[in-house]
Parts: sequence; C-alpha cells; structure tokens
Amino acid sequence: MNTFKTPQPSESLSSYVSRIRKKLNLTQFELADAAGIHGRSVGKIERGLTVKINRRTLQGLAIALGVPQEYLSAVIKGEEVSQVRGVKFCPQCWNPGAAVDRMWSHVKAKFCYLCGTPIRATARIAVSWCCL
Ligand SMILES: [Zn+2]
Repeated sequence: MNTFKTPQPSESLSSYVSRIRKKLNLTQFELADAAGIHGRSVGKIERGLTVKINRRTLQGLAIALGVPQEYLSAVIKGEEVSQVRGVKFCPQCWNPGAAVDRMWSHVKAKFCYLCGTPIRATARIAVSWCCL
C-alpha cells in the first residue's frame, strides 16, 4: 500500500517531492495550494534550492502529499525511512543508546512485556538499528 510514497534510499527532498507530486497528478501550484505554501516554494524545493524547510511547510507538504511527516524529515536528513519508522520502545526499560528489544516492536505489543508500561513509538532515534 502506497509504497511509492516511501522514500527511496538516498533520495533527496527535491526528487522525492517531485516524484510524489507527479504520481498524484498535481501541478506545483496545486501542491502548493494544498500545502498552504507559496506556489514558488514548491518549485524551489523541487529544484533543490531549499534544503531546510520550516515546520509549517513540512506539515503542509506532508498533508498535501499524503505522506507521514517523518518521511519528509527523513529525506531532508538523508536518513532511510526503515530506520526512522515504527520504532517502539518501553520508556521504563529502554536505555537511550541501547538496542531496542524486538518484543516492543511486535505489531500487537501495546504494553511492555517486562513491566506493563504502555509502549511508546518514536519517529526517530539517532542510533543505528542494526539489530532490528
Ligand atoms: Zn518496560
């Protein structure tokens, strides 16, 4: 489902935005309109002239493109989405920097199997998830 919306490895913000926009058959103007940003902003982003976008623009673009904000943040930072999506952890048992227990990532896991604390999901944690 919606796999074309998943950023490609090392895809840039400009190519990502333009690729999704074309898939959705939107003009740059229509996208800007839906995102609530200036028409020329989309052109600038797609030409790679905008490397940093503010939160408002990010939120608008995510809504207009129908993608999670994390996807946009990931392409801006050059991270792969597999590393930033679906990371679940127990706020009680997990030590920042340590590996995340696979049990927390289970689709049905709502509570920590060790202590019963509700599992939290994070958009991104800046460590490598070699063991997931
Ligand atoms: Zn726990």
